Amino acid sequence: MTPTCGGILGRDHDMWWSGAASGWWMRCPQCGDRETRVVDSRDLEDQATIRRRRECEVCGARFTTYERIEAARLVILKRDGRREEFDREKLLDGFRKALTRRPVPDDAADVAVDAIEAELRGAGVSDIPSSRIGELAMERLRGLDQIAYIRFASVYQSFEDLAALKREVDTLFGARDGSRR
Ligand SMILES: [Zn+2]
Repeated sequence: MTPTCGGILGRDHDMWWSGAASGWWMRCPQCGDRETRVVDSRDLEDQATIRRRRECEVCGARFTTYERIEAARLVILKRDGRREEFDREKLLDGFRKALTRRPVPDDAADVAVDAIEAELRGAGVSDIPSSRIGELAMERLRGLDQIAYIRFASVYQSFEDLAALKREVDTLFGARDGSRR
């Protein structure tokens, strides 16, 4: 989560609940000082925006900030070097397609994608290689349903040939036999 506000603020992921003490700051628009004090604060209708009256402790100027909570951007680094924003819907779509008519709970795709997104955000890095998402997705699917896993893998992992696909299937059989309870 990062606060944003009219371009005059510092950054920190630890939210503004703890204000200046947490290490992010807002400069006075008049003198540029960072020592500002909140004199009034209220939530706006959508709850994600807070309006604050602030007073500069150096020059006494008063100004209003609108602080908005936004989820930090999760940027995916593609194989060809391009960057794009993490697309939850796209990943969800991949899961749904792979899980079509498989004996899994209705919300299996959502649960899996939520877990992956949480893991990516929890990692605290902004540039995530797309291959990492592929790995996480495959991991989830392998534990969920093996047919779905092979479907997903054949689309996103693009096996070069049938032999590569067979190796993957053999690995699954091996893992299954090995872990038979
Ligand atoms: Zn000032």
